[in-house]
Amino acid sequence: MRTDKRYHADYLKLRIYESDLMAINITSLVRKNILKMKKYASARDEFTGKAKIFLDANENAFGSPADQELNRYPDPLQKQLRDKIAAYKGISSPEGLFLGNGSDEAIDLVIRAFCEPRVDSMMLLPPTYGMYSVCANINDIKIIEVELNKDFSLDVEKIIETAKTENPKVIFICSPNNPSANVYAEEDIEAVLNNVDSLVIVDEAYIDFSDSPSWVKRKDEFNNLIVLQTFSKAWGMAGVRLGMAFSDPEIVQVLNKIKYPYNINDVTANIVIKTLIDPSRKEEMVDKIKKERGFLMNAFSNLALVKELISSEANFFLARFDDPDDVYTYLIEEGIIVRNRSNQLHCEGCLRITVGTHEENKILCEALQAYTKRKRS
Ligand code: PMP
Repeated sequence: MRTDKRYHADYLKLRIYESDLMAINITSLVRKNILKMKKYASARDEFTGKAKIFLDANENAFGSPADQELNRYPDPLQKQLRDKIAAYKGISSPEGLFLGNGSDEAIDLVIRAFCEPRVDSMMLLPPTYGMYSVCANINDIKIIEVELNKDFSLDVEKIIETAKTENPKVIFICSPNNPSANVYAEEDIEAVLNNVDSLVIVDEAYIDFSDSPSWVKRKDEFNNLIVLQTFSKAWGMAGVRLGMAFSDPEIVQVLNKIKYPYNINDVTANIVIKTLIDPSRKEEMVDKIKKERGFLMNAFSNLALVKELISSEANFFLARFDDPDDVYTYLIEEGIIVRNRSNQLHCEGCLRITVGTHEENKILCEALQAYTKRKRS
């Protein structure tokens, strides 16, 4: 068996010796047709300055029935919104930020920009977020799987070896991982970044609930790194559909070239700009969710029917039961919906519980206590 410390040291050494060679040629990874094609030039791309009268985009000059001014197309490159988010995130330039209709859009666009259907492959590390494989299947991209270890950690050695033989265009690393809720060791992700010729997506949808730092801060060290974040979780704004991809500006340019021209609407942009003025409500909610996660997991640890609790750095956690299907159906009858993950790799017997409000969490615990009593009688 390898000793983890030495193993990492070996890979990190590799980085020292090869650091000058590590920058990846992004252009060579882009699909040839994407490189060749001309981007759609919208009216707002062709003329961006100020003018007295705009009669160039076939808009309705009379206004709109809505109570906001929505008759004009939004800025295709979302300058104001990107500036605000870049400043909030402390990244060196907004050029390194792509905005999508949820982070799901960024997942799909990376695949479409870089993976040639029926030719290229991408690597997934199951069990993980389901949209990666859905987008791969839609785009007819071969999936190479390297299973997580039983404790849900990365099998770094196997990932690197497989990447060397299979040459996937993209490797998806979800940290904190959905559904296991764990964060991967920084040195493990770093070893992958340094030893593959692929793009590496680190999906940080749940990073605000973790005590580990975000990879956004280290984005400029690796030009093959794409960090995904979203307004859907910690910000409590799943309804506005806004996702972020932080990466080398060259990657952002490719994604902006192939996205729908007006993928971020004005309602979303205006609300998010307003929200960013005072992020304290988000911070408050994150604190509450972490506290409630502690409350729920503590209560679960006292339930005899819970066989195992997987520790969590997200706003959900896995709990293992002897008969997950029965617990799942019982909870539905009680009006409580959780996610049955028991058919996923390493998740045998597991239900995935999203942390709710204190009231909701108490009702869930009481329901499970009642279930236990009923089973005993
Ligand atoms: N990544 C992960 C790991 C997720 O769990 C989700 C949503 N469940 C997403 C991305 C997509 O988030 P968005 O709402 O930004 O599309």
